[in-house]
Amino acid sequence: MKINYLSSTLTILVISWISCQCSSEQDKTYQVIKQSIDQVKVINAHEHQHWPEEFGDHEFGFYHVLATTYLSSDIRSAGAPFGDMNMFDSLDMDALWEGVEDGLNYSRNTSYYNHFVKGLKTLYGFNDLYFTKENIRILDQQIRKNYQNYEEWLDSAFHKAGFDLMFVDQYWNPFNCELDERYFALVFHINPLVMEASNRPARDKIKKGIFEFAEKEGYNIEDFEDYLSFCEYLFRKNVEHNAVCVKNSMAYSRSLDYENVPFEEAKSLFAKPSDSLTPEEAKKIQDFMFHWVIKKSIEYDLPIQIHTGYLAGNGNVLDNGQPVKLNNLFLMYPDAKFVLFHGGYPWTGEYAALGKMFSNVYLDIVWLPQITREHAILALDEMLDCVPYNKFFWGGDCGLIEESVGSLEYGKEVLAEVLAKRVDRGLMTVDVAQEIAEGMFRNNAIEVFQLEKKLADRPIFNRQNM
Ligand SMILES: [Zn+2]
Repeated sequence: MKINYLSSTLTILVISWISCQCSSEQDKTYQVIKQSIDQVKVINAHEHQHWPEEFGDHEFGFYHVLATTYLSSDIRSAGAPFGDMNMFDSLDMDALWEGVEDGLNYSRNTSYYNHFVKGLKTLYGFNDLYFTKENIRILDQQIRKNYQNYEEWLDSAFHKAGFDLMFVDQYWNPFNCELDERYFALVFHINPLVMEASNRPARDKIKKGIFEFAEKEGYNIEDFEDYLSFCEYLFRKNVEHNAVCVKNSMAYSRSLDYENVPFEEAKSLFAKPSDSLTPEEAKKIQDFMFHWVIKKSIEYDLPIQIHTGYLAGNGNVLDNGQPVKLNNLFLMYPDAKFVLFHGGYPWTGEYAALGKMFSNVYLDIVWLPQITREHAILALDEMLDCVPYNKFFWGGDCGLIEESVGSLEYGKEVLAEVLAKRVDRGLMTVDVAQEIAEGMFRNNAIEVFQLEKKLADRPIFNRQNM
């Protein structure tokens, strides 16, 4: 009995020693890789950075910033109505906490919650794991101070986090081509070109969206050819303003299957009053238009970013964004560069397969770590098992700098964890792991979006000059 007891004690000791050694080795590898990622000057290939005034006339405090984050969707998902900034202007901190407390606390487990906390940790020295009534009060004061001069705050936060350039998709202001090029690169948001082609205002109706903008720019749209010439003008204008790519986020309003519709058919459907079109006919015009956009993107040498998978907010048609629906386009346009977003979550395997199968399909894991950190680790490990590493990018996908910084920290942690595990399993050397990280956070974007010249010639230009 004594011998048995001794041998089992010894076994336990040996196992604990081995597992201790293993975990400290893993920690060491993780730290080496994470530290090298921290040195990378990050090209962030997708953001929605706003100036605070673009959210309306508010004096920004903690709750205003919170309302712009993904976490606000989890608060609503937990059952708490949340997000009306006008309410934040008038209620005191106690009343605001009371309204948000339950929804916020029920979200303490989510990546939406935790990555936002990470951003506040980096930028505000916020060291708590959870928000409380008391620590929000302190954050609120700090945020109010910073937002009194947001431009200065953005500049310091942007550089502190290690950003070099952010691509900005201004879906809320899609015809604006003016950006502060010290920080941002223009993304040509093409949804209106496609979606509004099937929503032409009648002659006697007030023009909106693309038709209003066309009139402002001196274009008279009488027929489909006129419409296409105006769309061509928008391409030229965006290219003149150094657009780095086009962006399709249509999964928010329709399915990603685009059939190949002949020009004559689209032309005759465009000629019909839009309010008389059946949903199938409206879809046909849109389908034609996206094929047209792809051809123009090839001509102007612009990669095409496409939202796939999970949809932000609360309530939508998940099925719209299934990545495999785009398969016909990858076959049809080998000269186009398609950049699929968000890991196609929850269709991450399908997404990886498309990146593997097509040389013209790239994978931007933007936002995936914030949707679910743990699935991002599993999925990215799988993707790195099958897709060459020059095909990956990273982006933040956030409205304000605090959340972008948290997203970056999350993205770095996810990649470092995946790479460290692969190094420790003997699947990869540290130098290749570092090259993968530099590729995903910088070099691949420079190569595919041809940023070398842009970065070298970056003008000293700011909003005062606009
Ligand atoms: Zn986005």
